[in-house]
Amino acid sequence: TTPLTHDSAIIIVGGAGTIGSSTALHLCRRGYKDITLLDIYGFPSDYSTYGPSQSAGASDINKIIGTSNSGTRGEISEMTMDMWRNDPVFKNYYHEVGELSAASQPEHIADLRKSYEAKSSNRIKSKDLRWLGNRQEILAHCPHLANGLLDGWQGIWNEKAGWGAANDAVDSVGRELRKFGVKMVFGQAGMFDRPLIDEATTRCIGVITKDGRKHHADRVVMATGAWSPGLIDLAGQCVSKCWIVAHLELSEEEARRYKSIPVVYNEEVGFCFEPRFIRNHEPGKDRWIIKLCDEFPGYTRFMETTPFGAEEPIEVSVPRSHSAHPTDTVPEEGRRRLRRVVEVMLPEFKEREFVKSYMCWCTDTADAEWLFCQHPSYPGLYLATGDSGHSFVTLPSAGSQVVDLLEGKASAERMRRWAWRPGQGDSEGTGRGGIAPKDLNDLDGWAHGDDERAE
Ligand code: FAD
Repeated sequence: TTPLTHDSAIIIVGGAGTIGSSTALHLCRRGYKDITLLDIYGFPSDYSTYGPSQSAGASDINKIIGTSNSGTRGEISEMTMDMWRNDPVFKNYYHEVGELSAASQPEHIADLRKSYEAKSSNRIKSKDLRWLGNRQEILAHCPHLANGLLDGWQGIWNEKAGWGAANDAVDSVGRELRKFGVKMVFGQAGMFDRPLIDEATTRCIGVITKDGRKHHADRVVMATGAWSPGLIDLAGQCVSKCWIVAHLELSEEEARRYKSIPVVYNEEVGFCFEPRFIRNHEPGKDRWIIKLCDEFPGYTRFMETTPFGAEEPIEVSVPRSHSAHPTDTVPEEGRRRLRRVVEVMLPEFKEREFVKSYMCWCTDTADAEWLFCQHPSYPGLYLATGDSGHSFVTLPSAGSQVVDLLEGKASAERMRRWAWRPGQGDSEGTGRGGIAPKDLNDLDGWAHGDDERAE
């Protein structure tokens, strides 16, 4: 490829998502001047023009923010947390309410204990952590769980964790990118169709969007999250899956009582957050919302498709996004698991109907490490995906790693971990050490309406 300079034209596909917007931010901060974002949807403040995006994994009212132990995300977690606390782009969107990470089954408690000990051996992280060995110790930090079903619960209390206002934080990145003069092409005009390849050299020299337009570039970064394996043949390295989310509405009085509760995560049940006041475009529709998710291996949605690079149709798990299908909900069995989260963690609301439930998509690698690498057959085409369901927390920092890769500054060890590594697909398991996921095609109760929109 041509040498990378501060004047090189760089296209980021999926540029309004977590890894894409983060990459653009770090490119700008390192002095790159010619950056274009392509995305089907824009940043949250663009929604009035481009229709509410609930496609991006980042499109959410809150996500857990805390230190990680695993792989690159663990290694950069000090930088990540420092940016959430201090960087002007992020600091207003981080709420350090603490996090309980608990379990009740002995093997899960043993895993948590191992993780606690690993983190405790780190001088910086250890002072913020405590092991909570019984109900009383848990209630000392999470008094709102007093009526919860906590039999056998033990776990880690992390004082220096909490949640990020996901949509607002991504929007803040978008505003910063506009100040730097980043070009943005959203809507159908920003929808990736295929890379533009120079036939003589097989070099990637840009992108062709769905409207047929050619966008030329010196480097193309594919940060298309769960859509990546359906767009480019990734040789089975990433398997996209959805997880499910529900919203409970609270009255103002109820919200006041639950305000500032810590994030509670139990890997056998799910997790929930403090209530958030959500402003609605329609007058009188502002509401207090508690978001909750269950924990399970995720759902795939396999179908025949022909991503770029595949010679014939192949079976790929492809997202069906909430933006394109806004009346979709969740499978009936998933709804039951979400009800269980309420029963266990928020029993006061066990009779209350959800005001919303939907699916949110990620793409898992077998080892849960990122797939950040140059495509082996198309120089100039870079992959920045494989979020493995834990990458929102790295909104401030993931892009620094992608830019290190582009600049050839990433360490050999990281490049090895992020490398193109076919044959290690995730379809047999979950990439998270669990059982194989079910496929949405085999489940009822989630697909509604005939309201196909953008995708
Ligand atoms: P995304 O943020 O999804 O971005 C992909 C972008 O590509 C989108 O903007 C999309 O519009 C765009 N795109 C797709 N197709 C095209 C196309 N053809 N052309 C142009 N653009 C396209 N992580 C945490 O750290 N903490 C949490 O608490 C947490 N909770 C989660 C809960 C749920 C239910 C789910 C599903 C995920 C959760 N995650 C969490 C994971 C996190 O959301 C993802 O890891 C992260 O957002 C993925 O980032 P990404 O940039 O790879 O993809």
